[in-house]
Amino acid sequence: MRFATRVVHSGHETTGPYGGIVPPVHLATTYDRFAQDPPRYFYSRGENPTVEALETCLAAVEGARHCTAYSSGQAAATTALSLLTPGQRLVCCDDVYGGTHALITGLRRYGILVEQVDLSDLDRARAALAGDVAMVWVETPTNPLLKVIDIAEVSRLAHERGALVVVDNTFAGPALQRPLRWGADVSLHSTTKFVAGHSDVLGGALICDDPALHHAFTQHRTVAGTIPSGLDCFLVHRGVKTLSVRVERQVRTAQTLVDLLLEAPGVTHVRYPGLPEHPGHDIAARQLAAPGSIIAFRYSGVVEKLLAGTTLFACAVSLGGVRSLIECPALMTHRPIPAADRAAAGITDDLIRLSVGIEDAEDLVEDLTTALASGR
Ligand SMILES: *Cc1c(COP(=O)(O)O)cnc(C)c1O
Repeated sequence: MRFATRVVHSGHETTGPYGGIVPPVHLATTYDRFAQDPPRYFYSRGENPTVEALETCLAAVEGARHCTAYSSGQAAATTALSLLTPGQRLVCCDDVYGGTHALITGLRRYGILVEQVDLSDLDRARAALAGDVAMVWVETPTNPLLKVIDIAEVSRLAHERGALVVVDNTFAGPALQRPLRWGADVSLHSTTKFVAGHSDVLGGALICDDPALHHAFTQHRTVAGTIPSGLDCFLVHRGVKTLSVRVERQVRTAQTLVDLLLEAPGVTHVRYPGLPEHPGHDIAARQLAAPGSIIAFRYSGVVEKLLAGTTLFACAVSLGGVRSLIECPALMTHRPIPAADRAAAGITDDLIRLSVGIEDAEDLVEDLTTALASGR
């Protein structure tokens, strides 16, 4: 089965006794032992058929053996990081999701050594991975600067050291990037974003091929209580069915908006992995099926007026949904980072991030054109 078929059909093996063509929502928290032969379900903090249907789907979608679903992307990240023990070293890319940054900072309390490195620079990656390392954390493309990290090369270097490679695949989503194919051990998703795609449910997932890793992830979820509800899994599973058509449209419209931004007065710089001048363009061309639907650009006008000037693009954090969003990382998603560190990383006050939805492209062009003019 090809991708667009897998997203629609996977995880539909257990549809119940009535021939319903979608899996039912199981909300029971506990299961009668004598009603099952052999007993398989015990308590819903550990196992639930609706959660399993989603997991079967997401593993198939990413061409992997196993998936464990979580109540959020952060719950998935917490679980992956729980594999680290005191004295071990974690190497993480520098331009990392704010929630991940907070989690890895917290690891220092447990005697875990944490080092952040620009892994899009392979010389720096090589230097950082020359010593002892237990886990390498890669996010690509990065947020908000869309740096591209070579998963295959970083995985090769990490595996020489016996380190585990976790790729946060949220920004690309499974339609555009499959980290396991490039040698990573774990692909992490905030399914809140592209996978569910409608900005109405939180969720996370850890996808891997190794049964021992999968077992550790599932065990941790049971004791930490980070399993998602059956209703939430139903929503994520419902959302993922349209992933390939959504992403196709989003990417096409993003390319139209990139063309607009390149010519627009007041726009001083456009960052998009599909542009030949993007520093990660060649790796992106190989690693991603398409350059995605997140665009960053610098604006010389009044940022607040631009943000308030759109009607279709909602000024909000998050990404990957059917509705287009606009945000200023320095004012919103990346505000907790000290201003000097932000500026040094290139997250300046004039940087704007778009998440392109599935609205009519011409309407989005008009909306953005008006807003860009209103801030000048
Ligand atoms: C949103 C996001 C997360 C966290 O996911 P939640 O579902 O919000 O907990 C992690 N990584 C990236 C790249 C994200 O965009």
